[in-house]
Amino acid sequence: MSGIKARLNAISAIINYKPSHSPLNFSETKPTEIFGSNVFNDKIMKERLPKHVYKSLKNTIAFGQKLDATIADVVANAMKDWAIENGATHFTHVFYPLTGLTAEKHDAFLVPDSDGGALAEFSGKMLIQGEPDASSFPSGGIRATFEARGYTAWDVTNPAYILENPNGTFLCIPTAFVSWTGEALDKKTPLLRSLQALNKQAKRVLKLFGVDTKLPITSFAGPEQEYFLIDRNFAFARPDLLLAGRTLFGAPSAKGQEFEDQYFGVIPRRVLSFMMDVERELYKLGVPVKTRHNEVAPSQFEIAPIFEQGNLATDHNQMVMTTLRTVAKRYGMICLLHEKPFAGINGSGKHLNYSIGNAELGSLFDPGDTPHSNAQFLVFCAAAIRALHKYASVLRATAASASNDHRLGANEAPPAIISAYLGEQLTDVFEQIKKGEVKGSKQKGLMHIGVDTLPPLPMDPGDRNRTSPFAFTGNRFEFRAVGSSHSIAGAQVALNTMMSESLDYVATELEKLGRVNKTQFNEGVQKLLQKIMKENDAVIFNGDGYSEAWHKEAKKRGLPNLKTSPEALPVLSSKESIELFTKYGVLSEVELKSRQEIYLEQYVKTVNTEASLVIRMARTVIFPAAMRYQGQLAETCSHLKTIGHDFKTDTLEDVTAKLRSMQAEVDKLEKLLGHEGGNTLDHAKHMCNKVLPAMNSVRGYADALEAIVADDLWPLPSYQEMLFIR
Ligand code: ADP
Ligand code: MG
Repeated sequence: MSGIKARLNAISAIINYKPSHSPLNFSETKPTEIFGSNVFNDKIMKERLPKHVYKSLKNTIAFGQKLDATIADVVANAMKDWAIENGATHFTHVFYPLTGLTAEKHDAFLVPDSDGGALAEFSGKMLIQGEPDASSFPSGGIRATFEARGYTAWDVTNPAYILENPNGTFLCIPTAFVSWTGEALDKKTPLLRSLQALNKQAKRVLKLFGVDTKLPITSFAGPEQEYFLIDRNFAFARPDLLLAGRTLFGAPSAKGQEFEDQYFGVIPRRVLSFMMDVERELYKLGVPVKTRHNEVAPSQFEIAPIFEQGNLATDHNQMVMTTLRTVAKRYGMICLLHEKPFAGINGSGKHLNYSIGNAELGSLFDPGDTPHSNAQFLVFCAAAIRALHKYASVLRATAASASNDHRLGANEAPPAIISAYLGEQLTDVFEQIKKGEVKGSKQKGLMHIGVDTLPPLPMDPGDRNRTSPFAFTGNRFEFRAVGSSHSIAGAQVALNTMMSESLDYVATELEKLGRVNKTQFNEGVQKLLQKIMKENDAVIFNGDGYSEAWHKEAKKRGLPNLKTSPEALPVLSSKESIELFTKYGVLSEVELKSRQEIYLEQYVKTVNTEASLVIRMARTVIFPAAMRYQGQLAETCSHLKTIGHDFKTDTLEDVTAKLRSMQAEVDKLEKLLGHEGGNTLDHAKHMCNKVLPAMNSVRGYADALEAIVADDLWPLPSYQEMLFIR
């Protein structure tokens, strides 16, 4: 369906919208009862597994001990029984290929027996390892198609769960996805490796502070997920929304977000119904979603969970994205996770709240109230600052994608320059340490490690800096550059590995002190902190990250400013990044290069699809509409002339000129798109520097036409309709 009819049908479908599902009843089934009901969780395992099997599994899950493969058969059997009792017919290994999406391949439990009947079967082997045909997933040259074997391997640390469908359920097993030669083909494998590295290095530092903990040190992640929600019928009437997930055309609405009447406003009824349904589905899966609210742009919203262990939080965020998309359809809407679906208003990101620690110790980025715990806090905090300064480009590269390029640095999201916001007080503390004399007596105002207590740092300072890409918020850092459609694995892999390297450095330096008494140790810590701050405080910036002045200042400080994906992605295979990731066994050189290749390919494909759509829509949708209007204007002029009336041709000339220019730009764009040759990076640069500006140029004329052409001839739903009719 297309043309003005599609647009009008969309609007009438919204006006006549009636919910097609029966309302939920939270008093009948309370959230606390629903929570985790579809998860093969600790309670179920305890009930259903023999004691020694449960204990062994628990050791792997909680303490990171090696999985005992001999228990797999028993676990598989218990899982199968539980799943079948809950209506499951199939099982699937769920994995996370480098497309950033969630992948699943279903197999039935059912196998025929020799008597013409059938049994339900699920062995330990089927639980531990799967073998999906990997040939159609991107590998970046790791394997040729003829040796396409990839394996999925059970991730014991995240629980299995059941997903529902109106016609039944299926058992989902979280897995890592590797090639037959053992290279990571997914997002989970490096995340698990980075967590191991982090644990090892953090424990070395903690040991020096005399802290012992049985549990592994891990990362904690709390991703705040932003999204747009618009009526589904609009997407049917807009090929760009349908295929690219964003509008490639569209004149701005007379009203946008300037009234600031949307943020935290009353949630529209249909949207709230949708949110409650999403939450209920996520409760069943044990995802602790907590916060929901309107976001800044019209029709933009946020959902945020309570933070969890990094690997679990990552799987859960994938579930959040999938659930948002599927439940939206039930309510006649479409959930747009694209970072910039609409020009001129805010885009969507995913603030990744990040800390390290464990259940015993809490967050290691949390200042304590004794001088001793403060010293430890300052060390971990300084390690983070050093990591950020040293590996800013690596972290930046993990947030690079064609869609996120529209958002980063667009005066609504942090700039592409990576800096840290510490707030006034903490900055002051580090300033003192930087100036402090280590050996001399305590000077007025200078902090002395192991002696002084920090001034109480407000957990949630009122003057929160929204423009900083990496902001300290009391007990964690908030990394704000991640895109709304991204997996949060990439950023965490980088953060965990950078932190590992920094903590390794800290531990090595402090271990050099040898056997010393407490005072000498504190002096050693002070000296090290001073050195770290002297060398790395260029990355600290508490001011307005959007301002021109900061861009100049950052340049002076030597901070990288990688504005686009083709600039940022090559960092993945840089010397520093290869050294970093190989040293801690997180990603090999081959894996890094393949990732870079895949992400660049994705970039090229995305822009290519969008450019093709621009050409098609300009020629087959916008041109005809504008030409019809041009015809009407010409006709009117000709009639007026016939009856000897005075007439003006301004509008006609304007439309004609814009149409011609648009056509010329479309032809140019088409030629640019035909460009072949060069490697993937060259191609990506061409797309970025030549094709994208040409697309914008076509759009400029098309949007100008939208503002002149008679509304009843314009076939595409307008910005105001999409954003304000709900
Ligand atoms: P904001 O005011 O930034 O919008 P939200 O409440 O929406 O805050 O989200 C904050 C997120 O940070 C939540 O997911 C929360 O669970 C998470 N969080 C809180 N403490 C930590 C921590 N120590 N480590 C990681 N994430 C945390
Ligand atoms: Mg929030």
